[in-house]
Amino acid sequence: MMTLLMLSMITGCSQSNPNQGTIPEQSPQAQATVSTPVAQLGKTKVVTTFLPIYLFTKAVAGNVADVEILVPPGTEVHEYQATPENVKAIATANVLVKNGLGLEGFLENTVKNAQNTKLAEIDASKGIKPLNEISPVVKTAKEEEDHEHAQGNPHVWLDPVLAKQQVTNIRDGLIAADPANKVTYEANAAAYIKELESLNNEFQRTLQKTPSCTFITFHDAFPYLAKRYNLKQVAVVQIPEDQLSPTDVQNAVNAVKKYKVKALFSEPGVDNKLLSSLSKDLKLTLRPLDSLETGETDPQHYFKAMKANLQILETSCK
Ligand SMILES: [Zn+2]
Repeated sequence: MMTLLMLSMITGCSQSNPNQGTIPEQSPQAQATVSTPVAQLGKTKVVTTFLPIYLFTKAVAGNVADVEILVPPGTEVHEYQATPENVKAIATANVLVKNGLGLEGFLENTVKNAQNTKLAEIDASKGIKPLNEISPVVKTAKEEEDHEHAQGNPHVWLDPVLAKQQVTNIRDGLIAADPANKVTYEANAAAYIKELESLNNEFQRTLQKTPSCTFITFHDAFPYLAKRYNLKQVAVVQIPEDQLSPTDVQNAVNAVKKYKVKALFSEPGVDNKLLSSLSKDLKLTLRPLDSLETGETDPQHYFKAMKANLQILETSCK
């Protein structure tokens, strides 16, 4: 009878029950049978927009919340069109985490269609002052002006220091939405932030040897990283394109004439023949620099990809 009473007490407990810690000791067996379903039923459902935000949120949430991703890795985020599954995912979620700074253009209508009045939204870039054109962006075709980032450049996750700010914002938002797991969110965030700090130190140490190193990109993704480590990005194209136009090529040639350019960077996994022949003509090595908009879904992938970026930068800037 006593066991039954305790069972019903525990099952009836919400996660935020302040008495949780005072439940009398029970046999390990009773604990095992009771705690599993309770934990699963009580899990907060968090949807994130795209890869870096998923990685940061998953790192903070660990196993105490369910974390999903709306834009599947491998899909372009800048021009993403929402699916009916995205609407369903948001409709049943407790929390939505976005990068913000205008990156997720698909989100506003998708959230409206989901009609989830209880949804808590976390803007991971809250408090970050966006850059507009810190890098000299060479304007290309006229239609590109449609895609101009009205709220500044959104690629803040590529600066480990700003990534720290994003992780902190995500941590605070998760704690507000799910205070019962505050201790876990704080510990997970602290461990990830520690890794971000040592990554930042590694970038500082390595790149201080090559100040003002100038590189050309075909995606305006690295102005925050460049600013942080005293490099110079010249973006010929703002948003990655399948095909470079003759104007893009001419802009790259002009940029090489105008600046002392050390390297041309393309996206990983892209085999662009035009870019390869351009790099030969310009006598600059073409290497991949990862914007992390796509990749593996393990939170450690951020460090793996960023360390690979650092190696590429170090080699190119020598
Ligand atoms: Zn981008």
